[in-house]
Amino acid sequence: MTRHSARTTTRSRWVLGALVVGLPLSLLPATAGAQPTTAPAPQTDRGWHGRPTPLPKVPVMTGSGGAVSSVDRDASQVGIDVLARGGNAADAAVATAAALGVTEPYSAGIGGGGFLVYYDAKSKKVTTIDGRETAPASFTDKTFTDPATGKAMDFNTVVNSGLSVGIPGTPALWAKALRDYGTLSWGEALKPAERLADQGFVVDQTFHDQTVANAARFSAFPATAKVFLRDGKAPAVGSVFTNPDMAKAYRTLRTQGVDVLYRGRLGEAIVRESNAPHTAPGVSVMGGQMTLRDLAAYRALTKAPIHSQYKGLDVFGMPVPSSGGIAVAEILNLMKAYERRTGTPTSQVSDVQYLHRFSEASATAFADRNRWVGDVRGVPVKELTDPAFAAERACLFDPMKAHPRPIPFGSPDGSYTSCAPGAVAQGQPYEGQSTSHLTATDRWGNVASYTLTIEQTGGSGITVPGYGFLLNNELTDFNFTPLTPGVPDPNLPGSGKRPRSSMSPTILLDDGKPFLAVGSPGGATIITSVSQTILGYLDRHLSLVDAIAAPRLSSRNGASEGAEPAILDGPTGAALTAMGHTLASAGTPNEIGAVTAIRSLGRGIFEAAAEPTRRGGGSAMVVHPR
Ligand code: GLU
Repeated sequence: MTRHSARTTTRSRWVLGALVVGLPLSLLPATAGAQPTTAPAPQTDRGWHGRPTPLPKVPVMTGSGGAVSSVDRDASQVGIDVLARGGNAADAAVATAAALGVTEPYSAGIGGGGFLVYYDAKSKKVTTIDGRETAPASFTDKTFTDPATGKAMDFNTVVNSGLSVGIPGTPALWAKALRDYGTLSWGEALKPAERLADQGFVVDQTFHDQTVANAARFSAFPATAKVFLRDGKAPAVGSVFTNPDMAKAYRTLRTQGVDVLYRGRLGEAIVRESNAPHTAPGVSVMGGQMTLRDLAAYRALTKAPIHSQYKGLDVFGMPVPSSGGIAVAEILNLMKAYERRTGTPTSQVSDVQYLHRFSEASATAFADRNRWVGDVRGVPVKELTDPAFAAERACLFDPMKAHPRPIPFGSPDGSYTSCAPGAVAQGQPYEGQSTSHLTATDRWGNVASYTLTIEQTGGSGITVPGYGFLLNNELTDFNFTPLTPGVPDPNLPGSGKRPRSSMSPTILLDDGKPFLAVGSPGGATIITSVSQTILGYLDRHLSLVDAIAAPRLSSRNGASEGAEPAILDGPTGAALTAMGHTLASAGTPNEIGAVTAIRSLGRGIFEAAAEPTRRGGGSAMVVHPR
């Protein structure tokens, strides 16, 4: 792998300085908003005149004018075209996300939710928008238990049912992001996605494989089978996949406004279908409890970000109901604490020692988030992200030996002098691996880091008839019963509550200026993928794309730790095992995460980076490639 010093070559910033920021797109002359300088655009410039030239699908691209990185080429291109025509990072983020709803319909879309972390160049502030799905008002902490036995319902039975469907937050987040930060109208932002759904995209291996993996449950829902199974089968690789029903959903939203989902006929269709899903003959599933009132009550919420510091950089992440910002901050704080305890910086230790430290840090952070973080009052956010708490949690760190799992949770109580191990060790709640992440920046220095999801790949499996999009199963992110009897569990279901998430859209600032934007899909592994990418880039001398590609380890305080083949099957894995780590495959395929990121090279130049191979590889683009 190429190694270079990230810190010496990359501490330059996004260059700010647009005069036209805030102008609606329609008020900009065709070329004015798009010019990075006052010089006339050379003929080779793309995007300013007529139809933009398609950019290739690559994992790294460097250049000016703004950047977009997502898991999908068509979606990144939509974002780049928005930037090229004068849109800003919020516009690009919404348009790219809408396109992901078309090309990644099993991971993202209007039937789901997500979290946006946004750096606004004008105010120089990082804010977040919480577009997480909510539980219906009728939910209680017993909703996912069998009334007869009091035991947790079967997980998969709930996934494939209307009961798992949360009130969608994605459309509300898009509307709010455009209102608060964007320049495009709602209709302009959704139009490219509608076109993509109408004209289709070329099926790749990942989409094909995901369809095959879900074919059995999709065939239980006729509306889903009609849209996603062609003649009962997954569409062939290389074929063009159109989704006219989803085009209709986007057209309905675009022409009638977001309220058509929260107060109109699109919402009525969602409520009807989630309450009484249409199923194939002989199949019956539980209905949900969503009401029109629940939909009308839904709000995407502006929230202050989680803020911590790492190696002189300000790290901003997503607050509750995501545990992402808190857990990433604790992991980074623990890595610093281990450096202080051992006297050896992360940058100077062996790969084995680095991964050992990283594993101990992430298992510890997961122990704490499982006990303390959820959509409840009184989450000890300040304490959990306090370096003093991390120092206390690090005091039992052994550089030669792994702590037995599960590690007990700590006491974020403001007094950090104890070195006593915690008393209660809890198991690991189940979380799948799906979702989509995108990062976008513009030439004015605005930055968006946005993770969106419908939870499991394929969500609940329920498609809204006639509208071609899948409904989420986000409510299965709640713990069905307390993780440990007798220990308060902040992540039980509840009325109007938002399930705890691991999504970790992150923005790092250097001296107040954007430095790096990063995020990943992957359920609970999102937290470890994002932290490992930050550490790889800042401490392990990796270029950004190499930090994204580096073999992953994901220790979440379970009995075993997910390790990709390059670790699991090699000498690194053997050495970690000898230290007491129990490594295991992270699944089939054995892949963890699919990060996208953007960094600044200074003077208005960006490097967009995406996953090179996992999930078929992502797509990094800039407006003016160099
Ligand atoms: N539901 C997950 C979360 O909010 C994301 C879905 C996934 O990546 O599996 O953390």
